[in-house]
Amino acid sequence: MGGVGFMSGHLKFTGSFLWRDSPAGDTGNGNDGGSGKALLPATWVDGSLYVHHGVVSRHPEAGLTYREIRGWAVPGLVDVHCHVGLGSSGPVDRDTQEAQARADRDVGVLLIRDCGAPVDTRWINERPELPRIIHCGAHLARPKRYLRYFGLELENPHDLPAEVARQTARGDGWVKIVGDWIDRADGADSDLRPLWDGRILRDAVQAAHEHGARVTVHTFARATIDDLLDAGVDCIEHGTGMDSDHIAEAARRGVPVTPTMLQIARFADFAAQAGAKYPVYAATMSAMHQRNIEHQASLLAAGVQLLPGTDAGGYQAHGSLPTELARWLNLGLRPAEIVDLATWRARDFLGVPVLSEGAPADLVVYPCDPRADIAVLARPALVVLRGEPVAGARVTEL
Ligand SMILES: [Zn+2]
Repeated sequence: MGGVGFMSGHLKFTGSFLWRDSPAGDTGNGNDGGSGKALLPATWVDGSLYVHHGVVSRHPEAGLTYREIRGWAVPGLVDVHCHVGLGSSGPVDRDTQEAQARADRDVGVLLIRDCGAPVDTRWINERPELPRIIHCGAHLARPKRYLRYFGLELENPHDLPAEVARQTARGDGWVKIVGDWIDRADGADSDLRPLWDGRILRDAVQAAHEHGARVTVHTFARATIDDLLDAGVDCIEHGTGMDSDHIAEAARRGVPVTPTMLQIARFADFAAQAGAKYPVYAATMSAMHQRNIEHQASLLAAGVQLLPGTDAGGYQAHGSLPTELARWLNLGLRPAEIVDLATWRARDFLGVPVLSEGAPADLVVYPCDPRADIAVLARPALVVLRGEPVAGARVTEL
């Protein structure tokens, strides 16, 4: 298995932790799984938390010996836009996939929605020491209308609904569509343009929903958003083209946005590289880069849920979620709010348990309070996955 062995540990954590009280009679595997049942917020609690048999509990079990650790604990962080299986020039081999997953895990990311992968990485979910992955299948794009070797390129755009239906079998309840990209067919006038017409998108989202899957869409362009919202997409990646009407509508529909601030910081580079040949596109990207902070802050102000995502795998490094989250301070969020969004709120959106009585023991312990210093997210004392210590500065002591 390599790395830190599985020691069938029983842990007693003492300190402050982000916990959800379960309603009486609830089994504690607390999430609504899309049922719409209202969930209590998770809140910070002081006291002890016991880890045994892979689950968390407020109560020790008689006869067990617990190793003790102190600090501040949160449910495993979530990266909803993280391409395990993808490198800068396309698919990567299994060793690299594993190294990517470990890099994410080692900074406390214990749940990934992969947001599109050109290779099948479902084997990772059989490895108990690697983070849990909710797969999206392959990115669905068109020839010359996305990064080469990244996605599945449909020659005929009308095939999108059928391909979405096929991808639902490869994914875990999510499908990823590329909504827009530069269309280089227009020479110097080339700009971001939608890949699909609105009717096709509507049929594609309907196909996903009929197969019990949700749809998330890569989009930079303003021209794409009306069609995405009309089609009923469930989630938006980047969303840099959303205007104030789009933002209000996304808030009304409860469609969250993954801001990927590290990735948007690269728009200035994209613009510089494209500048001489594609000046219109370069101007579009520069303008989005310049208004990014203001734009993301307006999403927040309107009540749109922001989802934590790095876009790791293409241009961003795996393990960069703490850096991404630190940037969210620029949006006016307090560290406590960022921790909520990156842990239980993202887990609730994905329908995955948080820390509550009897829930899987996926948690991260820090040496100081992340509500006081968000930078500590980069330095976990202990990462516990499925009840076992797998990483963190103090893992070798346990
Ligand atoms: Zn991506």
